[in-house]
Amino acid sequence: MNDGLLIVLSGPSGAGKGTIHDKVLQIMPEIKKSISVTTRKPRKHEIEGVHYYFKTEEEYSQMIADGEFLETASVYCHNYGTPKAPVFEMLKNGSDVIFEIDNFGSRQIKKKYPDAVTIYIMPPSFEELERRLIARGTETPDSLKTRLGNARRELSEYKDFDYIVFNDDADVATEQVVAIIRAEKCRMYRNEQTVKGMLKRK
Ligand code: 5GP
Repeated sequence: MNDGLLIVLSGPSGAGKGTIHDKVLQIMPEIKKSISVTTRKPRKHEIEGVHYYFKTEEEYSQMIADGEFLETASVYCHNYGTPKAPVFEMLKNGSDVIFEIDNFGSRQIKKKYPDAVTIYIMPPSFEELERRLIARGTETPDSLKTRLGNARRELSEYKDFDYIVFNDDADVATEQVVAIIRAEKCRMYRNEQTVKGMLKRK
């Protein structure tokens, strides 16, 4: 059996990577989702073990000391990390696994696991990104300025990614991500073992 595909979605806040992540999973429900650990407090709708594993700073530090993470990052003053064991278990069982993480985490994964497929979700323009962040209603003028400044820095790291998808329309962007995943699964080298097995048979 082939190992599953490791798919990373990144993008600045307001680009819509969360929406695209959820829409991709609706179209391809066979893909497993990597559930991160975070030290931030749960939001109203968030469920332990579904959206995140919520930990204290002490618990998180202990997980780092025990080498439990595939990657870690600090985003807007909170810690986030991907637990290693469940991801490798899913990949080994042939399941594809999708991650929604920041640029720093994506780079760490690509370094350790060059076979990962990394996709950057871009806003169609800075003006649109600003409009979306304002429409969310979660930003103060200061935090809006910080997020836009961070977005500019993050966007300049586009060369670290295998693919760029512009999210003007979420359904179109989702179709593009689905197409990337399907094409990646057809790559010659990912299917070589299967073909060799076929050729061995009389
Ligand atoms: P939020 O707190 O809004 O759920 O996520 C904030 C940011 O942290 C988002 O950009 C999200 O992609 C990123 N993030 C969530 N989980 C992880 C993780 O396990 N590792 C890394 N590197 N970033 C994460």
